[in-house]
Amino acid sequence: MKKPLTFMDVLGFAAGYWRRQPIKLAIVMVMLATASGLETYLPTALSNFLGAIREHQTHHTIVIYLIIFLVVYAAQTLIFGATYVIYNVFETRNFQALVNDAFAHVYRLSEPFFINTFSGSIISRINRARQKIEAFEDRLIIDVFATVIVLIGSMAFLAIHFFMLALLIIVYMVILITISAYFVFRISGPAQGIYANAQDAFVAHLADSIGGITTTKAYAREEFEIKNFFDVTSKLQIKNLFAYQLSNLAGFVQRVLLSGMLVILLGGGTWYLFQGTATAEDMAYLAFAYTIMQSYIQRLSNNIKDILTSSYDLHAVIDLMREPPEVADDSARPKLAITKGEITFDKVGFTYPGKTTPMFDGLSVTIRSGERIALVGHSGSGKTTFVRLLQCLYPLSNGIIRIDGQDVITASRHSLRSAIALVPQDPILFHRTLADNIAYGKPDADRDEIKSAAYQAHIAEFIESLPHKYETLVGERGIKLSGGERQRIAIARAILANRPILILDEATSSLDSASEKAIQDALHTLTHGRTSIMIAHRLSTIVDADRILVFDHGRIVEEGRHEDLIARDNGIYAGFFKLQSGGFIVD
Ligand code: ADP
Repeated sequence: MKKPLTFMDVLGFAAGYWRRQPIKLAIVMVMLATASGLETYLPTALSNFLGAIREHQTHHTIVIYLIIFLVVYAAQTLIFGATYVIYNVFETRNFQALVNDAFAHVYRLSEPFFINTFSGSIISRINRARQKIEAFEDRLIIDVFATVIVLIGSMAFLAIHFFMLALLIIVYMVILITISAYFVFRISGPAQGIYANAQDAFVAHLADSIGGITTTKAYAREEFEIKNFFDVTSKLQIKNLFAYQLSNLAGFVQRVLLSGMLVILLGGGTWYLFQGTATAEDMAYLAFAYTIMQSYIQRLSNNIKDILTSSYDLHAVIDLMREPPEVADDSARPKLAITKGEITFDKVGFTYPGKTTPMFDGLSVTIRSGERIALVGHSGSGKTTFVRLLQCLYPLSNGIIRIDGQDVITASRHSLRSAIALVPQDPILFHRTLADNIAYGKPDADRDEIKSAAYQAHIAEFIESLPHKYETLVGERGIKLSGGERQRIAIARAILANRPILILDEATSSLDSASEKAIQDALHTLTHGRTSIMIAHRLSTIVDADRILVFDHGRIVEEGRHEDLIARDNGIYAGFFKLQSGGFIVD
């Protein structure tokens, strides 16, 4: 269980980015302090000007006071404006650094994390962090800092004019800010936190539902999905409204308290007036000083609310970045030197996280260099898990996996995965050109190499028939291509990547016979001379394989060539073979 994040954690996290641009931050703060300080002098400047008029001073003196007032006003406006020019550079760089870090961190996380986390929620967390880091910084650095300077400056000037009144106002302001802060931190803030979580759940639901829309349509479950969505949005609406209403209440309480401050200031001023120690221009001074202070204090509770809301929003991305990476420092690990591609599972024990029964218990098998292995077995017998462990996607509980005699578990993951080409059952293509998709495992490949791989994968003819040929953009997740075409693109990708070890998950979808023949030929080219592990569904693959491993409940119960295995009386494989249908093994 991870420790829940506090406001200080968020502040520390943001400060980590601020420290990367210390000079800009310092300049911004000095400029802000200067502009805010000048603003607090405005009521005094105005009162001096009015005093000169009341005392019938010379026109020259009156004009000088007017000019002082206007110059101070213009200077603070200009400095505020200039502050933003520098501050915007600072904050946009911070947001860029944050999303870059978050994105790169996601790529360092392990397979179990992705299985347990909706991709929609990861997208939402990074996207919201982008918006909220700016809000967090704006409110904290610009607004709250300026408020503090204005309040201190105003109190200093007030103390010069009316010392006792200044003391009274300080006490009142402490009470006012404490009550407002209590409201925001304890009441409206937590409601914002609840709303932020509801937004995450909303985006995750949206992504999950829209991602599965073809399945929904296929099963005519649109009504169900729409109704489900309405339920999610009505929960979101209630939480949103609740958060709004509480912050409205906080705003109301604050306005009432602020009116009290006006009463004290003007009432106190009048008292001084009656004592003969204040003038009419002092009253104008007090009213102006109040206007400036109240505009800051009034924004203060909104600012604190925004800081809290954005800090809750940032929790999600900080949590994401606190997820431990798959390996701490991959570059420090020994690199695998894979030449032959001989794979050994030595007494491997493995239990899925959260499960109690082991999937594998002392599994041992050796796959020789260049051998073409087919994995066969009922669904759930452990074939996919076997290849996942070879890719080191999960930690073993016992045993060791070696490639060319080297322990893969302790080796650099990058070197391991660089040695493996994968053709999944349902390949996902990027929304990029076909050439980019084919060259994904060898980004520096030239056009001739890409064409040659496409040719060997029996997809070249299809690509050449497209108007933009290799420059054709693949629709979102390759939706414009058929399953068979996508698989042949994935085969071309694996051919071009030219890696010593191949993992193939054959498509089980019923391809037309021309596609099937094309894929078979492509697979044959691909696996030739390479250590290949195929999760086999098609008989033709199995007949061809150098060795078949038959899995049953996480154990290899039979192994041998096709002819040997079908000759076994009561053998599991022989049973599969008898039950085969349309060239596929029945699960
Ligand atoms: P096969 O590929 O032979 O169909 P798998 O290796 O995918 O079988 O699955 C073997 C068993 O492990 C199944 O019972 C499956 O439910 C379980 N399993 C697969 N993935 C996970 C996971 N991420 N967490 C927990 N159990 C899993």
